[in-house]
Amino acid sequence: MLETRNLSAGYGAITVLWDVNLKFRAGALTSIVGPNGAGKTTLLRALTGLVPHTGEILLDGAPLKGKTWDLAAQGLVMVPEGRLVFRDMTVEENLFLGAYPARCRGDLSANLERMYSFFPRLKERRAQLAGSLSGGEAQMVAMGRGLMAKPRILLIDEPSLGLAPVIVNEVFEIIRRLKEEGTTIVLIEQNTRIALSVADDVHLIRSGKVVMSEPAAGIDLDRLHDLYFAREG
Ligand code: ATP
Repeated sequence: MLETRNLSAGYGAITVLWDVNLKFRAGALTSIVGPNGAGKTTLLRALTGLVPHTGEILLDGAPLKGKTWDLAAQGLVMVPEGRLVFRDMTVEENLFLGAYPARCRGDLSANLERMYSFFPRLKERRAQLAGSLSGGEAQMVAMGRGLMAKPRILLIDEPSLGLAPVIVNEVFEIIRRLKEEGTTIVLIEQNTRIALSVADDVHLIRSGKVVMSEPAAGIDLDRLHDLYFAREG
């Protein structure tokens, strides 16, 4: 349903991604892995219109058009890393921001309750300032805010970043549940073990190029690590 064709993207004169051809299957969880600076976040930013690109991005076969907020209205929703919450706003105010697409505003309280069913801890902390949350809770706010936009495709950037292992497990339990409920997920993740364990498909990006695209079921963690750390050449 979501596809890139010869996608290149970067910042000013610097090209970071080169000729990326990827297909993200509907209902599947696709993990994008790769070393620091490989261009994973830039890929999500290109998909959501936050950095300019050349080449094509197709949603259901048609070129994606419009700014970031138009894309959210079409169901393509990005969850940035958890530190990017509005610190001076409450948890619930942060969550409501996710529901700005017109199609999400009609049944706001049902939408909120559905989201809280995934994140009961956020309900307990709904009146707390987001700036005073733990890292794991802030990550949940970022994900909850994305859910409020009723995504067809949820693009999640590094949900494990800076979190203790037990909290990482908690966050990934929720990601598994979202997948089971039919959300198409694109996950950027440095932790290859966990990225592989939840994925249907895995793409490895190194130095801005896709060097491996395979179903997760056939990938052995050792081989993935060999490719991950392989020298250019
Ligand atoms: P990490 O896992 O460390 O977050 P990544 O694979 O997500 O890495 P990106 O954040 O996409 O990598 O960065 C890819 C390259 O683009 C890096 O060399 C980075 O320095 C550069 N870059 C990222 N953001 C900008 C920016 N705003 N302006 C200029 N260069 C940038």
